[in-house]
Amino acid sequence: MPTVAVVGGGVTGLTAAWALAQAGSEVILLEARDRLGGVIRTDHLDGVPVEAGPDAFLAGDAVVSLCSSVGLKEDLISPDVFGAYIWSGGRLRRLPPGVVLGLPAWPVQALRAGLLSPTGALRAAAEVLVPGPLKGGDVSVEALVRRRFGREVLDRLVDPLMAGRRAGHTDDMSLQAADAKVDGLARSHRSILLGIRRGRRSGELSGEPPPFLAPRGGMERLVDVLARSLRGRLGPGCIRTGAPVTRVSSRREGFTLDLQGNGPLDADGVVVCLPAPRAARVLLNLSGDASRELESIPFASTAVATFVYPPASCALPPHGSGFLVPSSEGRALAACTWYSVKWSASAPADGGIVLRAFVGRAGIDPALSLDDDGLAALLERELGDALRPTAPPRLAQVTRWEDSLPQYRVGHPARVARIERALEGHPRLALAGAAYRGSGIPDCVAGAEVAARRVLDALAP
Ligand SMILES: Cc1cc2nc3c(=O)[nH]c(=O)nc-3n(C[C@H](O)[C@H](O)[C@H](O)COP(=O)(O)OP(=O)(O)OC[C@H]3O[C@@H](n4cnc5c(N)ncnc54)[C@H](O)[C@@H]3O)c2cc1C
Repeated sequence: MPTVAVVGGGVTGLTAAWALAQAGSEVILLEARDRLGGVIRTDHLDGVPVEAGPDAFLAGDAVVSLCSSVGLKEDLISPDVFGAYIWSGGRLRRLPPGVVLGLPAWPVQALRAGLLSPTGALRAAAEVLVPGPLKGGDVSVEALVRRRFGREVLDRLVDPLMAGRRAGHTDDMSLQAADAKVDGLARSHRSILLGIRRGRRSGELSGEPPPFLAPRGGMERLVDVLARSLRGRLGPGCIRTGAPVTRVSSRREGFTLDLQGNGPLDADGVVVCLPAPRAARVLLNLSGDASRELESIPFASTAVATFVYPPASCALPPHGSGFLVPSSEGRALAACTWYSVKWSASAPADGGIVLRAFVGRAGIDPALSLDDDGLAALLERELGDALRPTAPPRLAQVTRWEDSLPQYRVGHPARVARIERALEGHPRLALAGAAYRGSGIPDCVAGAEVAARRVLDALAP
């Protein structure tokens, strides 16, 4: 039976390993750290589970069927509240429901919410008059939105959604990679606004909030259940933590993996599930071209600060689970989740209020150079300006995620195609992870399954 090595024990690596194991392969999963899960980590603060990284995933087919295959599907729960505010001009303003990439189907709704000025709303409504559709290669999110909808929609609606979700800057963000749906609308319709409205009428584009799910008790349960399922099927030795891979090289009919501090390991196939800059180093020997392209996919660092405020000390606006902050506001804070409202099952028993604050915009974010106490103090001040709590937090914890969010620059899909072409000579090796075709957990899961299938096909007699 062929042995496939999976490099990286985040959700992508675990999913790839599970797909390979289910197909009957021998698998060895190699994780550099002493814990699995990568950026998925559930902490326990003030007696309740609180996420240090992602807190939910969109209910895509691949991730739901993955949960089903490990017996977790019945234990998936949805947020109790879902809806976003934007912190703009010193006030929290409700984001109209059903925006696509921040583009309002009806600019007048954004005007009523105080998110656009009358001039800005008029300019956005005039999108129907701007010549279209979009032709040619990939463009930046900023170029498209500014040309079609004007500066206000870009600064006040699109930027906060993109900064909050991806720690990115819109001026060099690939439209194709950031939102294939909007790119498709821009290319298939003379007007994006009319395209969104038509999509709504036909039911193709939902105006409802996206269905998010998370395992009851925390995201880390997904990691634990996957690891347990793998060990149950293949034995305890199939997962090695504390095993950083430094190099993958080819040998006749397979690969040799060098492990830091350990002897090399031979495998018939390899799935590399690492952030791109790390994959670049590991694959340098195998393909200089692939390595160079991987190196040029930047990853932004982020930090998540969790605060627990005393009961009844923050008057959180209704019908929302948090707020996003436009870059133009000049704040360190990019987004905040009202965690104990969003996930009431994880609220402290005494009614304490849990807030999660996100920092990190692509490039060098000066706030990230502060030490943990300095960063927590800065965020506490900014949360104070937004939410006016009547008491200070009784607990604060900062978690840093270095080089954790890939930035899809203009031309990203073509770069991914070049990486895959450069590795075509090694059909038994595949890449998967947040760097390529979407950084959400459902994208990582779907990509891991495709990568596992590719290696299995190449190994088939
Ligand atoms: C703060 C934050 C919040 C997020 N929120 C959401 C959310 O709410 N919903 C959502 O869908 N997505 C969210 N995402 C995105 C999503 O969580 C990630 O894109 C996804 O989990 C990445 O998984 P991965 O396995 O590809 O990478 P990682 O989780 O980065 O795992 C890679 C693993 O490889 C290991 N490794 C590195 N180098 C080596 C080596 N040389 N040898 C062996 N192992 C190595 C690392 O230690 C790590 O465990 C969030 C991301 C962040 C950072």
